[in-house]
Amino acid sequence: MLVRVAIDLALDRLFTYEVPKELEKKLAVGQLLSVPFGHRTARGFVMELGEEESGVSSQESGVRGQGSGVRGQESGVRSQESRVRGQGSGKRSYALKPILDIVDEEPFFSTRLLELVRSLAAYTAAPVESVLKAAVPAAVVKPNARAKELYFISPALAPAPVPMTARRQWLYDQIVRLGGGWMQQLCRELKTTPASLKELGRLGLVTIAPRQKRRDPLGNMRRILPTKPLPLNGEQSDALGVISAAAKPVLLFGVTGSGKTEVYLQAIAKELESDRGAIVMVPEISLTPQTVRRFASRFGDKVAVLHSALSDGERYDEWHRIRSGAARVVVGPRSAVFAPVRDLGLIVVDEEHDPSYKQDDNPRYNARDAAVLRGRLEGARVVLGSATPSLETWRNVAVGKYGLAEMKCRAGAGTLPAVRLVDMSASQRGDSSGAIFSQDLLDAVKLRLDRHEQTILFLNRRGYSRSVTCAACGATVDCPECSLPYTYHRADECCRCHICGGWILTPKVCPACGASALQYKGIGTQRAEAALAKCFPNAKILRMDADSTSRKNSHDDILSAFRRGEADILLGTQMIAKGLDFPNVTLVGVLNADSSLNMPDFRAAERTFQLLAQVSGRAGRAELPGEVVIQSYDPSAPAIVAAARGDFAAFAKEELSIREECFFPPFCHLAAVNLRSKDLKLVSSWADMYAKSLMKVKGLTVSEAVPSALEKADGWYRWQVVVRAPSVSTIVKAWRWLLAQRPPPAALRAAIDVDAFSLI
Ligand code: ADP
Ligand code: ZN
Repeated sequence: MLVRVAIDLALDRLFTYEVPKELEKKLAVGQLLSVPFGHRTARGFVMELGEEESGVSSQESGVRGQGSGVRGQESGVRSQESRVRGQGSGKRSYALKPILDIVDEEPFFSTRLLELVRSLAAYTAAPVESVLKAAVPAAVVKPNARAKELYFISPALAPAPVPMTARRQWLYDQIVRLGGGWMQQLCRELKTTPASLKELGRLGLVTIAPRQKRRDPLGNMRRILPTKPLPLNGEQSDALGVISAAAKPVLLFGVTGSGKTEVYLQAIAKELESDRGAIVMVPEISLTPQTVRRFASRFGDKVAVLHSALSDGERYDEWHRIRSGAARVVVGPRSAVFAPVRDLGLIVVDEEHDPSYKQDDNPRYNARDAAVLRGRLEGARVVLGSATPSLETWRNVAVGKYGLAEMKCRAGAGTLPAVRLVDMSASQRGDSSGAIFSQDLLDAVKLRLDRHEQTILFLNRRGYSRSVTCAACGATVDCPECSLPYTYHRADECCRCHICGGWILTPKVCPACGASALQYKGIGTQRAEAALAKCFPNAKILRMDADSTSRKNSHDDILSAFRRGEADILLGTQMIAKGLDFPNVTLVGVLNADSSLNMPDFRAAERTFQLLAQVSGRAGRAELPGEVVIQSYDPSAPAIVAAARGDFAAFAKEELSIREECFFPPFCHLAAVNLRSKDLKLVSSWADMYAKSLMKVKGLTVSEAVPSALEKADGWYRWQVVVRAPSVSTIVKAWRWLLAQRPPPAALRAAIDVDAFSLI
């Protein structure tokens, strides 16, 4: 028997091995194997089994055709490689190496999950190994990964009579009373020693055996009180009805605070009743203890959490609890779409429009779309929830691919906030803070301070000011590695590049002309904080941005402090824009509604609408009515007007007609071919050549090769070719063909981003 194995080398190639007779019966697709590879041992997943080389190797050529852009890594693997290649041509004149061992007889991937992996690899034009790697946590696959075992002591049920001292009797009674326990723990609690406990073991009074000790990421949360299902309101029960009856994915379109989470919870409960499992995907940024607690308090131990802050041990144990079926509900970010849940009944994608579902590195998959695909493969229901659906999803509803459940009112106590739009061009106040705060907003903040209510202010730029500009010659102080101006940070008097992280001490004179006329342009969170402190010297202000949250836990610390009422105002970047629920916040201010509108990206209007709608949703979550003040220099922009009215349908209608006219998604698929090199001439000429070649392919709409909006980053020049077509496969086929014809030279990096989210 032969087996084809995917080894994590991003070679986009499977390797064939012989299976020793004694392992044949045990071998199954999806298992993790250890195999010889060159001079070392490697681990890989079983992708296919076959008797004959021919059956196996026909696949080989298909796979080989895909090889792309991964040279330079191959040298070490030639030996096995050349053997594999030889197979295509009739008889084999050498021996294949046998596999060494099956690491775990329980497969890591079901056949359906493997199908999902293969489809995503094909769709995103990524090596299949890269998808496998994204699908299983490294903590589970790495060679030294294992469960934690400790000695557990249980009292013997009917111990034979032995001579008892008073101390011995006491110890035994205590262990009976506790029902046993971990050796370490008993020693601590009963003030005894391992030797004394072992003596009880020798006497047959207790048994001592190693037992797996679970590393529980919710360990300190498990004691929270369980919650019962809330009685649903009319909209919620209608929504639940639609979800339960639907044979296709359902968009749960509900305003912020409409109680989508309660609907998810009850939909999951239904699945659990019929012994099916569920996956709940949330954007990493909203995967807060608060979110996790809502699921854990309803489903207790059945909930497993997967996210980036887990320790390797916790991740290992959570993953195994999912695979063994001990956990039936998985809560996690995009990678949770691959969780090995058996009998999957439901996948929930909360905030389905969120850009974080799109991975921006290989494999560039969109986990929301992957969820829809997995749902189809496994016959599971799929619910996509959002207050501001992506236009892709909205269009899928319009054409009948997805069902729709709508919730327009806030559940519980909250009401939707009143929104006020302030034209900043008319409200310049003349003094130094005029460009930051309108009088309307200052009055509104003052009112909250007087009433001891809280305010959230949103500004989408960290740092002190946007750039440092010379008033004499007009030059900005730019990062030499990137094509962007530095951002001035006052706390440490330096200029930082937000792209590469490089920094310099703020120059005293203009580096270009030498004049001492440097000025700070634009507003960052630090500057807004300083101006705010000046206006309200007695207010307590918390700032939340990438600079104030670089320490571990600082994110949670800031939010908890704000929740406890330790500050009056929370000022921050988009980090504060979603998922947070503060009952005492009655005012939300947006300082610069236009900033995201002016991005060179076809989704700029959509992003702006989403951001404003999400931020506004932070106000008035509980009994107290909320107010939102949106400051804008362009208050008649459709995205801003619609967001102020909270009118998604109107926004979508207008924006979709523009997209249709210009042939942009969701009316086509769009892929960005991204090229970078340290050599400007090389990257521009190859970009040009690729664009011209793609233009000749029938069915593709190809733009001219242009420098990316971010022309240079980290010393790399970046060029882009945007390709559009009615179907993704047309684009991917053309690109693979082109790569095979004209493989990029070593100094050029080429990657395709299918269904690109950002063109920057
Ligand atoms: P969303 O996820 O749509 O933003 P949430 O699920 O966070 O909304 O619900 C908002 C608030 O309404 C929460 O405090 C929640 O406990 C409450 N809530 C939800 N459903 C109900 C209900 N049926 N009855 C009473 N309160 C509810
Ligand atoms: Zn830089």
